[in-house]
Amino acid sequence: MMQWSVRRQSSWVQLAGHRGNFCLSEGGEVLKRFNAVENACLQALMSDPLRQFVPQYHGLASRGGESYIRLEDLLSGLSCPVIMDCKMGVRTYLEEELMKARLNPCLRNDMYQKMVKVDPMAPSAEEHAQGGVTKPRYMHWRDSVSSTSTLGFRIEGVTVEDGSVLRDFKKTRTFDQVTDVLLFFTKRQSHILEAYLSRLQALNEALKVSEFFQSHEIIGSSLLFVHDRSKANIWMIDFAKTIPMPPGICLKHNMPWVEGNREDGYLIGLASLILLVMEALRL
Ligand code: ATP
Ligand code: MG
Ligand code: MG
Repeated sequence: MMQWSVRRQSSWVQLAGHRGNFCLSEGGEVLKRFNAVENACLQALMSDPLRQFVPQYHGLASRGGESYIRLEDLLSGLSCPVIMDCKMGVRTYLEEELMKARLNPCLRNDMYQKMVKVDPMAPSAEEHAQGGVTKPRYMHWRDSVSSTSTLGFRIEGVTVEDGSVLRDFKKTRTFDQVTDVLLFFTKRQSHILEAYLSRLQALNEALKVSEFFQSHEIIGSSLLFVHDRSKANIWMIDFAKTIPMPPGICLKHNMPWVEGNREDGYLIGLASLILLVMEALRL
């Protein structure tokens, strides 16, 4: 279950993610709880053309007996930044998670409850009667109710200048709905939208020449939009479900996902975001 928290100490704000996964650090760094998959990705990214789009990786640290990954604090140097976390891809679960869930096809009441909370009409008559849904059904539904399946990304959360966090985007699905959030987040400031557009276009170019990108299935990773009054930037974060492909097998990232092809739709999401920022600039 996604936890949300805001911690405003110095410049640091945690928008999304599991509570307790982050630890404050000095000197323009944040500490994220160690995960071997993410650690390997960050290491590999430091010698890839994507390096300029990823927080700098400073190795590991230990706090209270726990290991953490030391990352550049992407908010340092900004005054009262606002941020938006967009989770990329046409699905937010790994194929292996789906396979595991199928092996254990029990009915989940917790997932049924979450479903009903978002949309009481979502469960079928049978699911209502059982008071439960299977995990594969829930995972598929969750991605189809937001913009994930159609636009290739979804908004996880947005902060506002007063420090509050908006996170009710589970049903934000259409191009127009997402455009409204972007207009709200940027307050229609054209210099900010223009900076976001050129950063997205630069990312698109870097992805074309990135060996890392070709050789990884990227699931649950976000683009973090960050701006203050004068500066705007976008960063790739969260690689805990970014899995290397077998040697010699490359992904295209712009094809529909069919179970077994491992395509993540990352470029579908990026293309949608570029169109969206262009639309916001036009409005
Ligand atoms: P999830 O539930 O999405 O898997 P997670 O625990 O893997 O969460 P992340 O998604 O990596 O955590 O980060 C959660 C939030 O923390 C981001 O939305 C962002 O607000 C903040 N954050 C993460 N990394 C950084 C960073 N290097 N600098 C500044 N803020 C960061
Ligand atoms: Mg995340
Ligand atoms: Mg994560």
